[in-house]
Amino acid sequence: PLWSEVAQEKDGIPHFHLLIDGCWRCLSSGESQDVINPATGEVIGRVPLANNQDAENAIQAAYRFFEKLSFDPLERLEIMKKAAEILASVREDMAKTIVLESGKPISVAFSEVDATIERLRLVEEEVRVLYGEYLPGEWVHDTKGKFAIVKRRPLGVVAAIAPFNYPLFIGAAKIIPALLAGNTVVVKPASDTPISLILFVRILEKAGIPQGAIHILTGSGKEIGDTLVTHPLVKAISFTGSTQVGEYIASRAGMKRLHLELGGKAAALVFADADIQKTASLLCKGAFRNSGQRCDAVSRVLVEESIAPQLIEALVEESKNYSCGDPMDPKTPMGTVINEAAATRLDGLLADAREKQARFLVEKKRNNLFYPPHIVEISTDCRLAWEEIFGPILPIIRVKNEEEAIRLANASEYGLDSCVFTQDITRAFRVAEALHDGSVTINAIPAHGVGHFPFGGNKRSGIGREGIKYSIDELTELHTIIVNLG
Ligand code: NAD
Repeated sequence: PLWSEVAQEKDGIPHFHLLIDGCWRCLSSGESQDVINPATGEVIGRVPLANNQDAENAIQAAYRFFEKLSFDPLERLEIMKKAAEILASVREDMAKTIVLESGKPISVAFSEVDATIERLRLVEEEVRVLYGEYLPGEWVHDTKGKFAIVKRRPLGVVAAIAPFNYPLFIGAAKIIPALLAGNTVVVKPASDTPISLILFVRILEKAGIPQGAIHILTGSGKEIGDTLVTHPLVKAISFTGSTQVGEYIASRAGMKRLHLELGGKAAALVFADADIQKTASLLCKGAFRNSGQRCDAVSRVLVEESIAPQLIEALVEESKNYSCGDPMDPKTPMGTVINEAAATRLDGLLADAREKQARFLVEKKRNNLFYPPHIVEISTDCRLAWEEIFGPILPIIRVKNEEEAIRLANASEYGLDSCVFTQDITRAFRVAEALHDGSVTINAIPAHGVGHFPFGGNKRSGIGREGIKYSIDELTELHTIIVNLG
């Protein structure tokens, strides 16, 4: 039912509209883009291809609304809570929408919707970051007789640019803190998966978001990206996506606030004393859930050679639980990868490994975009050892000892996540301290989840941290009022 509120059926295909300045409309250019179900190849909808004029209109309208400052904090809080209720009431429709446009299994889509509902329900905790602080001046000579109030102010217009892999949650996790903090938002969903976020914006509208606080533009990032990224009225860019696009944005954005969540290459360091069965089960989940299309996916296993044979045996056994099937079936563990370009890239990574005499432990031909799990023992000259995979391939590298494991883990140009498996608590902390990533998880796989713990990358994995407490930091600026008591 939500679809019909933001789309019109033509020739049996829903044509979606955009929200610019409080008005759902098709665009004057009339150009549109098909949204394809990766599992069937069917066109499930059509979205407008926004152009630079549309982006300009959305930014101007978002700025006008921000200038009016007419968006009361309590009202923002109530809207988010109401949006949680509405989203919960359309939970199934939303999950099916995610499945249709992304090819992921419905069990994973339900988790995504639930995480978004929870994020909306946690807004009271989130706004506490906005409370600010009082600083007495008498502890330092030059501030004696003064005190300061430090508060967080919104930045203005935020451009929220989202990737395809969690079509609802990642965009929502940008929009919620941006609006709560008092910013206005122009949203750009991924080209392959725009419908879930269009529906989310509609839910916010139904929950009472005022006209002008949020706008959504679909279409090509290449086409309108520059306008969003360089426009003088856009004060912050909250981007999740590839390192390549993130670095391009950084090169164009000038002095804007940048919040970039980019690629990852999570290493799992598995030591001889690890619990093999448990570790193998977690590693397969880490590598194959959502077909490995996760920035926090386990993207290489660095295993101490003394237990490599046992771990490999357990991984091969465990991988049998991950077969591709109908994404709408609740029992299906894996659906498709997003598109042909992604599948071809994965083919290339495997072909390179084969050329370099990698040992294929689990392999099966893909069926169109249904890409089954692969486990490959590789040497460090393979592309799989260094490139982000973003697909269901688990490379294994044997290491001699802790030192070599740490050296290889840190040699990556990415620095988002890693994980350590050992029963020795001293070693666990020692290794965690030595790793260069934004987060290190001990005896579990990286999982960003709803965002109760902060996450974000170092090195080429990005700038800034996401999370219930942390995203607001990225989307506000400190404003200090100093009072002279003398
Ligand atoms: P992508 O970089 O291809 O696209 C992301 C978004 O950027 C899309 O909305 C796209 O339309 C837009 N875009 C493209 N060119 C642009 C430009 N020139 N200017 C502005 N916007 C532009 O990424 P993707 O393939 O959708 O997503 C996968 C990537 O996202 C992976 O690298 C993954 O690691 C990363 N990711 C990171 C995190 C994290 O938290 N670090 C989370 C999820 C995904």
